[in-house]
Amino acid sequence: MGPCECRYYLRLDDGSVECQLCPHHCHIGNSKTGICRSRRNHDGVLISEVYGKLCSLAIDPVEKKPLYHFHPGTACLSLACTGCNFRCLNCQNHEISQVAPAEVDYYKLSPEEVVSLCKKHHCPGIAYTYTEPLTYLEYIIDIAKLAHEAGLWNILVSAGYVCQDPLKDLLPYLDAANIDLKSFSDDIYRKVSGGHLQPVLNTILAMRDAGVWVEITNLVIPGINDDMKMIQEMCQWLKENNLADAPLHFSRFFPRYKMSQLSPTPVQTLKAAKQIAEEAGIRYVYLGNV
Ligand code: SF4
Ligand code: SF4
Repeated sequence: MGPCECRYYLRLDDGSVECQLCPHHCHIGNSKTGICRSRRNHDGVLISEVYGKLCSLAIDPVEKKPLYHFHPGTACLSLACTGCNFRCLNCQNHEISQVAPAEVDYYKLSPEEVVSLCKKHHCPGIAYTYTEPLTYLEYIIDIAKLAHEAGLWNILVSAGYVCQDPLKDLLPYLDAANIDLKSFSDDIYRKVSGGHLQPVLNTILAMRDAGVWVEITNLVIPGINDDMKMIQEMCQWLKENNLADAPLHFSRFFPRYKMSQLSPTPVQTLKAAKQIAEEAGIRYVYLGNV
């Protein structure tokens, strides 16, 4: 098992390709990779260079994802391949998310081997997490199908930046997801993460419509996305879109990576966000990293 041909791309006349997996729609010249560093154009064929290469593998409590209302008290086999289609200045996993697959050690595991490992360790589910799992969607779908056949859950922990058609291929196999809603401002998405807000909202809505259990995480960064009016607008949007019962996790920021000059989020700020969310009608609001 090795690199596999990507499922979501177009071949262009000049030998380049257009990746259609995420809203970046990278145009990739021969022998180059897209923004996520893991999908490379090999002579007009787009290849997922991370397929089957796990840079992280662990057993975590499901609450660590965080998922608080999805089979609490259980554990999940948690795995990651390198890469992410965002460039968050505060990334806490940049050693694996902002690198190419060849830059780190990895375990080679086929989808069958991942499922066997999960069963061997008596975990009821598999979590695709730590980096951006949607950038290696082909591998996830192959694992997730086998996992369902074996009676295991599939859990996605993601920033949700993906195109709708590829997402639809995953949804039938997805049981739960925690989606990082980084702010409710396109401008902040652009400046802090290098992406846009609307595709993330579309992902949340598609998951809701598909019956996936969704929980939302909002990391509150002081001076960046801690405007309470914006947090209120976010909560209002969740409420208006029948997501008042989706648990909302306000998470505390600690200085890291390219935001190491900032201070940790005051706990008071998180409490204020919680109050606003509850007043807006969000039923289950939690504070994380406190
Ligand atoms: S998945 Fe990667 S290569 Fe494809 S469009 Fe997104 S960033 Fe670009
Ligand atoms: S989405 Fe997550 S993994 Fe990707 S850069 Fe942002 S914080 Fe890091």
